[in-house]
Amino acid sequence: MSDLRLDATQLDRYSRHVIMDEIGPEGQQRLLEGSVLIVGAGGLGSPAIQYLAAAGVGRLGIVDDDVVERSNLQRQIVHGDDDVGRPKVESAADYVATLNPDIDVDTYETRLTPENVADLVAEYDIVLDASDNFATRYLLNDHCVLTGTPLSHGAIYRFEGQVTTFTNDRGGETRDGATSGGDEPPCYRCVFPEAPEPGTVPDCATTGVLGVLPGTVGCIQATEVVKYLLGTGELLEGRLLMYDAMGMTFETVEVLSNPECPVCGDEPSIESIEDVAYEGTCEISAD
Ligand SMILES: [Zn+2]
Repeated sequence: MSDLRLDATQLDRYSRHVIMDEIGPEGQQRLLEGSVLIVGAGGLGSPAIQYLAAAGVGRLGIVDDDVVERSNLQRQIVHGDDDVGRPKVESAADYVATLNPDIDVDTYETRLTPENVADLVAEYDIVLDASDNFATRYLLNDHCVLTGTPLSHGAIYRFEGQVTTFTNDRGGETRDGATSGGDEPPCYRCVFPEAPEPGTVPDCATTGVLGVLPGTVGCIQATEVVKYLLGTGELLEGRLLMYDAMGMTFETVEVLSNPECPVCGDEPSIESIEDVAYEGTCEISAD
Protein backbone atom coordinates (compact mmCIF):
# COMPACT_ATOMS: atom_id res chain seq x y z
CA MET A 1 0.00 0.00 0.00
CA SER A 2 2.54 2.55 1.07
CA ASP A 3 4.72 1.90 -1.98
CA LEU A 4 2.29 4.09 -3.90
CA ARG A 5 3.41 6.97 -1.73
CA LEU A 6 6.94 6.88 -3.14
CA ASP A 7 7.04 8.84 -6.37
CA ALA A 8 9.07 7.76 -9.40
CA THR A 9 12.07 9.86 -8.42
CA GLN A 10 12.07 8.41 -4.93
CA LEU A 11 11.72 4.86 -6.22
CA ASP A 12 14.80 5.56 -8.32
CA ARG A 13 16.79 7.37 -5.61
CA TYR A 14 16.13 4.71 -2.97
CA SER A 15 16.02 1.71 -5.31
CA ARG A 16 18.89 -0.08 -3.51
CA HIS A 17 16.86 0.12 -0.31
CA VAL A 18 13.51 -0.70 -1.86
CA ILE A 19 14.69 -3.92 -3.53
CA MET A 20 15.79 -5.43 -0.21
CA ASP A 21 13.19 -7.42 1.68
CA GLU A 22 14.43 -6.03 5.00
CA ILE A 23 13.53 -2.48 3.91
CA GLY A 24 11.24 -2.45 0.87
CA PRO A 25 8.96 0.48 0.03
CA GLU A 26 7.39 0.33 3.49
CA GLY A 27 10.76 0.67 5.19
CA GLN A 28 11.75 3.54 2.92
CA GLN A 29 8.48 5.26 3.72
CA ARG A 30 9.26 4.80 7.41
CA LEU A 31 12.65 6.47 6.92
CA LEU A 32 11.05 9.36 5.04
CA GLU A 33 8.62 9.82 7.91
CA GLY A 34 11.41 9.53 10.50
CA SER A 35 13.14 12.36 12.33
CA VAL A 36 16.49 12.62 14.08
CA LEU A 37 17.98 15.33 16.27
CA ILE A 38 21.73 15.50 15.64
CA VAL A 39 23.54 17.33 18.41
CA GLY A 40 26.78 18.61 16.94
CA ALA A 41 27.68 19.24 13.29
CA GLY A 42 31.34 18.37 13.72
CA GLY A 43 33.39 15.23 13.23
CA LEU A 44 30.71 12.74 14.28
CA GLY A 45 27.78 14.83 13.08
CA SER A 46 29.14 15.33 9.57
CA PRO A 47 29.06 11.70 8.38
CA ALA A 48 25.86 11.07 10.31
CA ILE A 49 24.15 14.00 8.58
CA GLN A 50 25.44 12.93 5.19
CA TYR A 51 24.33 9.31 5.39
CA LEU A 52 21.02 9.97 7.13
CA ALA A 53 20.18 12.53 4.43
CA ALA A 54 21.27 10.19 1.66
CA ALA A 55 19.25 7.34 3.18
CA GLY A 56 16.12 9.48 3.06
CA VAL A 57 15.51 10.13 6.75
CA GLY A 58 12.91 12.80 6.20
CA ARG A 59 13.61 15.37 8.89
CA LEU A 60 16.95 16.21 10.44
CA GLY A 61 17.35 18.66 13.30
CA ILE A 62 20.90 19.97 13.65
CA VAL A 63 22.08 21.70 16.84
CA ASP A 64 25.41 23.54 16.87
CA ASP A 65 26.50 26.99 17.97
CA ASP A 66 29.94 26.98 16.33
CA VAL A 67 31.23 28.50 13.14
CA VAL A 68 33.39 26.53 10.73
CA GLU A 69 37.13 26.86 11.32
CA ARG A 70 39.77 25.71 8.88
CA SER A 71 41.13 23.24 11.45
CA ASN A 72 37.72 21.50 11.39
CA LEU A 73 38.00 20.53 7.73
CA GLN A 74 40.45 17.67 8.38
CA ARG A 75 37.46 15.62 9.63
CA GLN A 76 34.20 17.62 9.53
CA ILE A 77 33.40 16.74 5.95
CA VAL A 78 29.98 18.30 5.70
CA HIS A 79 31.74 21.69 5.57
CA GLY A 80 33.98 23.01 2.80
CA ASP A 81 36.78 25.54 2.55
CA ASP A 82 34.36 28.26 1.44
CA ASP A 83 32.34 27.70 4.61
CA VAL A 84 35.07 28.89 6.98
CA GLY A 85 33.51 31.53 9.21
CA ARG A 86 29.92 30.43 8.51
CA PRO A 87 27.68 28.84 11.16
CA LYS A 88 28.08 25.07 10.99
CA VAL A 89 24.31 24.56 10.97
CA GLU A 90 24.08 26.66 7.79
CA SER A 91 26.75 24.86 5.83
CA ALA A 92 25.38 21.49 7.00
CA ALA A 93 21.88 22.45 5.84
CA ASP A 94 23.26 23.60 2.48
CA TYR A 95 25.01 20.27 2.06
CA VAL A 96 21.80 18.34 2.71
CA ALA A 97 19.83 20.51 0.29
CA THR A 98 22.36 19.74 -2.44
CA LEU A 99 22.38 16.03 -1.70
CA ASN A 100 18.70 15.25 -1.25
CA PRO A 101 15.75 17.61 -1.73
CA ASP A 102 13.47 15.14 0.09
CA ILE A 103 14.95 16.09 3.44
CA ASP A 104 13.67 18.85 5.72
CA VAL A 105 16.40 20.35 7.89
CA ASP A 106 15.69 22.28 11.08
CA THR A 107 18.71 24.28 12.17
CA TYR A 108 19.30 25.36 15.77
CA GLU A 109 22.27 27.69 16.07
CA THR A 110 22.52 27.29 19.80
CA ARG A 111 24.18 25.22 22.45
CA LEU A 112 22.05 22.47 23.98
CA THR A 113 21.13 23.61 27.49
CA PRO A 114 18.95 22.38 30.36
CA GLU A 115 16.53 25.14 29.34
CA ASN A 116 16.08 24.13 25.69
CA VAL A 117 16.72 20.36 25.70
CA ALA A 118 13.11 19.32 26.32
CA ASP A 119 11.64 21.44 23.51
CA LEU A 120 14.31 20.36 21.02
CA VAL A 121 14.26 16.63 21.75
CA ALA A 122 10.46 16.38 21.85
CA GLU A 123 10.27 17.11 18.12
CA TYR A 124 12.22 14.00 17.05
CA ASP A 125 12.04 10.19 17.08
CA ILE A 126 15.63 9.63 18.21
CA VAL A 127 18.66 11.67 19.26
CA LEU A 128 22.16 11.24 17.85
CA ASP A 129 24.76 12.58 20.27
CA ALA A 130 27.60 13.93 18.15
CA SER A 131 28.69 16.43 20.77
CA ASP A 132 32.23 17.13 21.89
CA ASN A 133 31.81 17.79 25.60
CA PHE A 134 30.73 16.04 28.76
CA ALA A 135 28.16 18.66 29.76
CA THR A 136 26.10 17.97 26.64
CA ARG A 137 26.67 14.21 26.84
CA TYR A 138 25.37 13.95 30.42
CA LEU A 139 22.52 16.39 29.80
CA LEU A 140 21.34 14.36 26.82
CA ASN A 141 21.68 11.09 28.70
CA ASP A 142 19.71 12.29 31.70
CA HIS A 143 16.97 13.94 29.66
CA CYS A 144 16.61 10.90 27.41
CA VAL A 145 16.46 8.50 30.39
CA LEU A 146 13.87 10.63 32.17
CA THR A 147 11.70 10.94 29.05
CA GLY A 148 12.26 7.46 27.57
CA THR A 149 13.87 8.87 24.41
CA PRO A 150 16.25 6.69 22.36
CA LEU A 151 19.81 8.01 22.13
CA SER A 152 22.78 7.08 19.97
CA HIS A 153 26.07 7.67 21.77
CA GLY A 154 29.40 8.15 20.05
CA ALA A 155 32.72 9.41 21.37
CA ILE A 156 36.24 9.71 20.00
CA TYR A 157 39.71 10.27 21.39
CA ARG A 158 42.89 10.40 19.31
CA PHE A 159 42.84 6.98 17.58
CA GLU A 160 39.96 5.39 19.47
CA GLY A 161 36.21 5.55 19.32
CA GLN A 162 33.23 4.09 21.12
CA VAL A 163 29.59 3.69 20.14
CA THR A 164 26.47 2.38 21.81
CA THR A 165 22.72 2.81 21.63
CA PHE A 166 20.44 3.55 24.55
CA THR A 167 16.81 2.79 23.70
CA ASN A 168 15.73 4.01 27.14
CA ASP A 169 12.75 1.70 26.72
CA ARG A 170 11.95 0.77 30.30
CA GLY A 171 8.43 -0.40 29.57
CA GLY A 172 6.74 2.71 30.87
CA GLU A 173 8.20 2.20 34.33
CA THR A 174 11.06 4.56 33.98
CA ARG A 175 12.29 3.94 37.50
CA ASP A 176 9.72 3.22 40.19
CA GLY A 177 9.43 -0.45 40.92
CA ALA A 178 11.73 -1.40 38.10
CA THR A 179 13.84 -4.46 38.53
CA SER A 180 17.47 -3.79 37.80
CA GLY A 181 20.79 -5.54 37.56
CA GLY A 182 20.64 -6.43 33.90
CA ASP A 183 16.94 -6.71 33.14
CA GLU A 184 16.58 -3.05 32.27
CA PRO A 185 18.45 -1.29 29.48
CA PRO A 186 21.52 0.60 30.70
CA CYS A 187 22.30 4.29 30.29
CA TYR A 188 25.56 6.23 30.01
CA ARG A 189 25.65 6.92 33.75
CA CYS A 190 25.36 3.18 34.48
CA VAL A 191 28.91 2.95 33.13
CA PHE A 192 30.25 6.44 33.84
CA PRO A 193 28.21 7.77 36.79
CA GLU A 194 29.70 11.26 36.95
CA ALA A 195 31.33 13.62 34.47
CA PRO A 196 35.01 14.24 35.16
CA GLU A 197 35.95 17.49 36.84
CA PRO A 198 37.89 20.01 34.76
CA GLY A 199 41.58 19.18 34.75
CA THR A 200 41.15 15.69 36.21
CA VAL A 201 41.49 13.68 33.03
CA PRO A 202 44.23 13.98 30.43
CA ASP A 203 41.81 14.48 27.54
CA CYS A 204 40.30 17.55 29.11
CA ALA A 205 42.17 19.98 26.89
CA THR A 206 42.10 20.29 23.15
CA THR A 207 43.56 17.12 21.78
CA GLY A 208 44.36 15.58 18.45
CA VAL A 209 42.26 13.12 16.53
CA LEU A 210 42.87 11.05 13.44
CA GLY A 211 40.74 12.76 10.77
CA VAL A 212 39.13 9.57 9.45
CA LEU A 213 38.24 8.25 12.92
CA PRO A 214 35.02 10.22 13.55
CA GLY A 215 33.90 9.19 10.07
CA THR A 216 33.88 5.54 11.13
CA VAL A 217 32.17 6.22 14.46
CA GLY A 218 29.60 8.66 13.02
CA CYS A 219 28.73 6.17 10.28
CA ILE A 220 28.10 3.46 12.87
CA GLN A 221 25.82 5.86 14.76
CA ALA A 222 23.94 6.60 11.53
CA THR A 223 23.62 2.86 10.92
CA GLU A 224 22.07 2.39 14.35
CA VAL A 225 19.62 5.25 13.79
CA VAL A 226 18.51 3.85 10.43
CA LYS A 227 17.98 0.41 11.99
CA TYR A 228 16.04 1.96 14.86
CA LEU A 229 13.74 3.84 12.46
CA LEU A 230 13.27 0.69 10.37
CA GLY A 231 12.68 -1.45 13.46
CA THR A 232 15.06 -4.08 12.15
CA GLY A 233 18.30 -5.74 13.18
CA GLU A 234 20.10 -5.90 16.52
CA LEU A 235 20.91 -2.54 18.05
CA LEU A 236 24.01 -1.89 20.15
CA GLU A 237 21.76 -2.00 23.20
CA GLY A 238 23.65 -3.22 26.25
CA ARG A 239 26.82 -3.40 24.20
CA LEU A 240 29.63 -0.86 23.88
CA LEU A 241 31.53 -1.12 20.61
CA MET A 242 35.13 -0.01 21.01
CA TYR A 243 37.16 0.81 17.93
CA ASP A 244 40.95 1.08 17.92
CA ALA A 245 42.14 2.53 14.62
CA MET A 246 45.84 1.89 15.35
CA GLY A 247 45.38 -1.82 16.00
CA MET A 248 42.38 -1.89 13.64
CA THR A 249 40.30 -3.83 16.10
CA PHE A 250 36.65 -3.69 17.04
CA GLU A 251 35.76 -5.03 20.47
CA THR A 252 32.30 -5.29 21.96
CA VAL A 253 31.87 -5.25 25.72
CA GLU A 254 28.64 -5.99 27.51
CA VAL A 255 27.07 -3.08 29.36
CA LEU A 256 24.62 -3.86 32.15
CA SER A 257 22.18 -1.57 33.88
CA ASN A 258 23.55 -0.51 37.25
CA PRO A 259 21.15 -0.56 40.22
CA GLU A 260 23.34 2.18 41.77
CA CYS A 261 23.02 4.40 38.68
CA PRO A 262 22.24 7.99 39.75
CA VAL A 263 19.59 8.44 37.05
CA CYS A 264 18.15 5.02 36.10
CA GLY A 265 19.04 3.00 39.23
CA ASP A 266 16.80 1.82 42.06
CA GLU A 267 17.19 4.96 44.17
CA PRO A 268 18.12 7.70 41.73
CA SER A 269 19.55 10.97 42.97
CA ILE A 270 18.67 12.64 39.68
CA GLU A 271 14.91 12.95 39.25
CA SER A 272 15.06 16.05 37.06
CA ILE A 273 17.77 17.67 34.97
CA GLU A 274 17.44 20.60 37.37
CA ASP A 275 19.16 18.38 39.96
CA VAL A 276 22.45 18.51 38.05
CA ALA A 277 25.05 21.22 37.37
CA TYR A 278 26.12 20.27 33.85
CA GLU A 279 28.48 23.14 33.15
CA GLY A 280 31.88 23.12 34.77
CA THR A 281 32.63 19.57 33.72
CA CYS A 282 35.51 18.59 31.52
CA GLU A 283 35.51 19.91 27.95
CA ILE A 284 36.95 17.98 25.04
CA SER A 285 37.19 19.74 21.75
CA ALA A 286 38.32 17.36 19.05
CA ASP A 287 34.94 16.05 17.95
ZN1 LIG B 1 21.78 4.33 34.20
